[in-house]
Amino acid sequence: MTFATLGLIEPLQRALETLGYQTPTPVQAQAIPAVLAGRDLMAAAQTGTGKTAAFAVPLLQLLTMEGPKVVANSARALILCPTRELAEQVHASVAEYAQNLPLTTYAVYGGVSINPQMMKLRKGVDVLVATPGRLIDLFRQNALKLNQLQTLVLDEADRMLDLGFSEELANIYRMLPKKRQTLLFSATFSDEIRTLAGQMLNDPLSIEVSPRNVAANTVKQWVVPVDKKRKPELFVHLMRKGRWKQVLVFAKTRNGVDALVDKLQGLGINADGIHGDKPQATRQRALDRFKSSDVQILVATDVAARGLDIEDLPLVVNFDLPIVAEDYIHRIGRTGRAGNTGEAISLVCADEVNMLSAIEMLTRQTLTRHMEQDFEPEHRVPDTDASGQVVKKPKKPKKPKASGGGGKRNLGKWVDSGEVAPAEPSIKPVRKVPVFNTGPRKKK
Ligand code: AMP
Repeated sequence: MTFATLGLIEPLQRALETLGYQTPTPVQAQAIPAVLAGRDLMAAAQTGTGKTAAFAVPLLQLLTMEGPKVVANSARALILCPTRELAEQVHASVAEYAQNLPLTTYAVYGGVSINPQMMKLRKGVDVLVATPGRLIDLFRQNALKLNQLQTLVLDEADRMLDLGFSEELANIYRMLPKKRQTLLFSATFSDEIRTLAGQMLNDPLSIEVSPRNVAANTVKQWVVPVDKKRKPELFVHLMRKGRWKQVLVFAKTRNGVDALVDKLQGLGINADGIHGDKPQATRQRALDRFKSSDVQILVATDVAARGLDIEDLPLVVNFDLPIVAEDYIHRIGRTGRAGNTGEAISLVCADEVNMLSAIEMLTRQTLTRHMEQDFEPEHRVPDTDASGQVVKKPKKPKKPKASGGGGKRNLGKWVDSGEVAPAEPSIKPVRKVPVFNTGPRKKK
C-alpha cells in the first residue's frame, strides 16, 4: 500500500516523501480514507503509531480541495491538544505536511503573551492547533470565531480529561458549529472517553490499531528493585555502566526533577529538566537542546513530557513510577517509535509496589526484574504479576521481648524483609465527564 493508493493528492505525497514516509502506518491506512470520505473517527492509537499524520494529512487535503477561503479571525480546522509542548509538536508536523499547500497553520497555547496570537489570528488561519484554556480566552476576547470551522480534532483526549479539561471541552463544544467533522484520538480508551465520544461524534468509525491499553511491544521493559534513597546513585551507576547517550527520565514531582538534575549536574553530567513551574521558553529550550543532543539527560514530569516526539530516542528511565498506571504507557511510548526498538527501565522501591502491580495489570505483563549487584534493596519489593496481585511473604513470628531488667532497652527496629512501608495512595485524578447539550446534529 502507498499514500497514492489511499487517494492523497500529489503535493501531500511529495511532502511525505520528503519526510521519508514510504508506506502508511496501520492507523494511517485506516484513518486517511475514512477522513477523506467525511466520516467522524474514534481512534485508539498510542503516540509513535503515526497518528498525527493519520488525522492531519487527510484534513489538509479536505481543506485544500473544498470550502471557502478562511475569513478574518477564523479557523477552518481546529486541533485541540492537552499541553503546550504537544501543541507545538503537532503544529510542527502539520506545517511539514502542508509545505506544498496554499494553507496557513498556527499554534496557540497558554504561558506566553496572548497579544501576538491575537494579531496573528486577525487574518484567519486554515489550521489552528490549540490548548483548551487559551482557545477559550481567545474566543472570549473575540480574537477567534468558530463559525467557519469544518473539522475538529481532539488529540490525546484521555489526557485532556486527566488534566481536568472536561469543563473547557464542554465550553468549547458549545462554541462549535453543529455541522462539522470530528476526529477523536486517544492513546487509551477509558469508559469516560467512550462517553465523551458518544456525545461529540456522529456515527464514528472506530479504529483500534493496538490492543486496548497494551504497551508498545517494540519496547524492551525491565525493572530494577532498589531502596528509595539509593535511586540517584543507581541511576548514575547504570548510566555509566550502560554508556547511556540520550535518556529521557521521568520523575514524579517537580521537586524530584530539580533534585535529580542538581545531583547530575553536580557530578558534571550534562542534564536539564522540564516541569510545569518552568517558563515555557525555558522548557522549549531544554527540549530543543535535548533533541539536538546538546543535553544528554532530560528529566521531566509527566505533564511536561506528554506526547513529545523525539526521533530515535533509545531509552526511557522511570526514576519514579507514575501514580496513574496509564501514564506508564505514555512514558514508554517515547521510545520504540515508528518501527525502532527501544528500552524502558524502571527503578522501583518497596513503596511503589502497588503502582508496579497496577502497571502490570494494565499492560497485562509481568515486568522482568534485574537485581543490580551492590544495589539489592534492604526493603524488598514484594513479588507482583499481571493479575494485580502483590505477593507478600508471610510475616515471621516476632521475637519474644527480653523479660526483666526493668530499664528501657533499645533493641533496634526489627524489620521483616517481606514487609513494606505503606504504599503511596494510588491517586487517580477524578475525571469529570462533561455533559453536553446534544441536540440533533446534521451530518456533514
Ligand atoms: P506520531 O505517532 O504521530 O507522534 O508519529 C511518530 C513518529 O513516526 C514521528 O516521528 C513521525 O514523523 C513518524 N511517522 C509517522 N508516519 C510515518 C510513516 N508513514 N513512515 C515513517 N515515519 C512515520
